[in-house]
Order: sequence, then C-alpha cells, then structure tokens
Amino acid sequence: MKPKTFLVDNTSVRGWQCTKCKNIDYSDDIEKVLTMKKLKKHPMTIKVRELGDSEVIAIPKEVQHAFAVKKGERLFMYVEGKKLIVTKKSEF
Ligand SMILES: [Zn+2]
Repeated sequence: MKPKTFLVDNTSVRGWQCTKCKNIDYSDDIEKVLTMKKLKKHPMTIKVRELGDSEVIAIPKEVQHAFAVKKGERLFMYVEGKKLIVTKKSEF
C-alpha cells in the first residue's frame, strides 16, 4: 500500500488505502482532526493557576499537538466579541 493524503474535515490526513476493500488506515495525523472536532463540540475546561505574580493557563498536550504549538513559541491573544482568542501568527 502506498501512503496517500486524504481530506478529513478540511484537514489533510496521511493514510493508506487498501486497493481491495478501499478501507483507509489513517496515520497519527487523524488525532489532530479528532481533537479539533472534539473541541468544537465540547469546550475543554482549563484551570487558571498562579505562577509567581502571574496567572497561567496550560495548553493540554493534545491541543499542543493538534495546533503544533512548541515550547517558547509566541502566541497572540485578542478579543473578538466577548471571546478571548489565542492564535498562532500564521492565522492572522
Ligand atoms: Zn482490504
């Protein structure tokens, strides 16, 4: 089987399709799609913690992976309506 790219929920996911039964085995990329899907339906609760003089919120590992957030990376925060948005620079 040759690896191929499939479009799942508008996201490219690598995988392999069986030539006989057309069954698709997705690579770990599918985790990204599943995390996005989950977050759309069920918002995740994150706790605000104290760190010195600041209050911090942690980005759960699965969200870090889904959005490819790396340690030390600078993210952007802004307000949209009543929502506080955290985004990567590439999304501006
Ligand atoms: Zn098969």
